[in-house]
Amino acid sequence: MRAISGDSLAIDRKSRARVLSTGVLNRPVEERICDFDDVVIPLDPETAMFEASRCVQCPDPAPCVLACPAHNDIPSAMWLIEQGKFLEAAQLYHQTSSMPEICGRVCPHEQLCQGSCTRVKSTSPVLTGALEAFVIDYERSLYGRVDIPVGQSTGKKVAIVGSGPAGMACAEQLVQNGHQVTIFEMKPATGGLLTYGIPGFKLPNQVVDNRLQDLERAGVEFVSEICIGKEKTIDDLFNDGYHAVFVGVGAEIDAPMEVPGEDLPGVYKATEFLMRGNVDPALLPVELREKPAVGRKVAVIGGGDTASDCLRTALRLGAEEVVCLYRRTEKEMPGGRHDRELAREEGAEYQFLTQPVRFIAGEDGRLAQIECIRMELGEPDAKGRRRPVPVEGSNFIVDADCAVLALGYWPDTTIGDSTPDLKTHKYGLIIVDPATGATSRPGVYAGGDGVTGPDLVVTAMVAGRKAAQAMDEYLSELD
Ligand SMILES: Cc1cc2nc3c(=O)[nH]c(=O)nc-3n(C[C@H](O)[C@H](O)[C@H](O)COP(=O)(O)OP(=O)(O)OC[C@H]3O[C@@H](n4cnc5c(N)ncnc54)[C@H](O)[C@@H]3O)c2cc1C
Ligand code: SF4
Repeated sequence: MRAISGDSLAIDRKSRARVLSTGVLNRPVEERICDFDDVVIPLDPETAMFEASRCVQCPDPAPCVLACPAHNDIPSAMWLIEQGKFLEAAQLYHQTSSMPEICGRVCPHEQLCQGSCTRVKSTSPVLTGALEAFVIDYERSLYGRVDIPVGQSTGKKVAIVGSGPAGMACAEQLVQNGHQVTIFEMKPATGGLLTYGIPGFKLPNQVVDNRLQDLERAGVEFVSEICIGKEKTIDDLFNDGYHAVFVGVGAEIDAPMEVPGEDLPGVYKATEFLMRGNVDPALLPVELREKPAVGRKVAVIGGGDTASDCLRTALRLGAEEVVCLYRRTEKEMPGGRHDRELAREEGAEYQFLTQPVRFIAGEDGRLAQIECIRMELGEPDAKGRRRPVPVEGSNFIVDADCAVLALGYWPDTTIGDSTPDLKTHKYGLIIVDPATGATSRPGVYAGGDGVTGPDLVVTAMVAGRKAAQAMDEYLSELD
């Protein structure tokens, strides 16, 4: 749906195009690094209406819609918000997204809708992400809940393995089609990386809990602390009476660095560091409840968003000096620029073309120093990124009380290993038909990071929705 035609706005477009954005307002640095609360100050209704009015209503197909993996109808939503029709805008987002208030907060908008917004050329993009979160927050503040419409019962039961965004989105769609859904999760709490990975200063826990509660109210059953593939297999689920299974197990195994000293006390893997640093201890196994000992100086190794999250977490845990060591230059960094800007504002430093080769213990046996080598950029690799090449004899020492390895993630092979005839790639990622999420096993579908490798909340969410649609068709054909 497009709320208005591009023509009716033609006269107004030029004047709209000159209006400057208010920008997203963040809490002052000195205040926000003392806690783990949301960094962003929420928009108020007047600012939201003003910001939405900056949209020039690009002709269909608008660049922002094309760039959004969920294809949210952003121009129509902007038009409704501009007029103060916040609930109508919220309904529009619910049509294409299973968690707009979450995507509105954590999507790398500068690489997606905002990055392709026509307004980038004249002034600055429309704040489409903040506005998406605003309308759903508004809806929730009015009713204290966001209802998921539940379809008439079909009598079909679906098991979902993994409660991250892929599993949540799949469940949200399936209950709307009247199927009975149970989500099996191996961790104590649900939400996947929304709960255990992305820090609360980017995505407050309450926002995730609220959406999980919406699913519970819609009849989704959650069974925690059960590892499918170990305590129960996918075949057991079918034997238990489930008619179809969706696998949304993510890719959460930290990639190792494979250099001497990696196992020293004081060297953490990013997942453990972020969980211990950010997550409510009540949601963690006993051995992970203590905060990481950051000491005075922390070095984070890696160039993705996880590295930015670790830098910012280290600062909040009280480290005085926090440095990111990355083997290429800033241009090749895979992480979003916005997160790096926030990390820099908060005091993080970056040291490029630097590769650790050894972690060195002090007298107490804990990490004290990191031996590094300078790198230079060589020929491009298969992805077109210039390959880092060590500069011989350039070794040097960086002092550090704590190091965090944020080097990327691998999938867990438990499901692939325990499910006969389920085809996987050699890395353990599950092979699916990209259009439907169907795996090589009839009735078994998959999506999210466990299929693509580490990606984004929005892409996992879209995969869960896509699979739900195909599963609905599959279930309707069963007698
Ligand atoms: C630190 C960090 C920060 C990130 N920040 C952002 C961000 O700002 N924006 C963004 O868009 N993306 C971000 N991402 C990526 C995003 O979180 C993931 O792409 C997304 O969560 C993938 O969703 P998923 O449902 O596929 O998997 P997950 O969220 O990983 O959920 C999978 C779930 O399955 C469970 N599970 C696994 N195996 C089993 C099993 N055998 N039995 C039962 N349960 C099982 C896991 O415990 C987990 O709860 C970040 C990732 C990390 C690690
Ligand atoms: S690209 Fe920007 S200006 Fe154009 S419709 Fe989308 S939000 Fe509006």
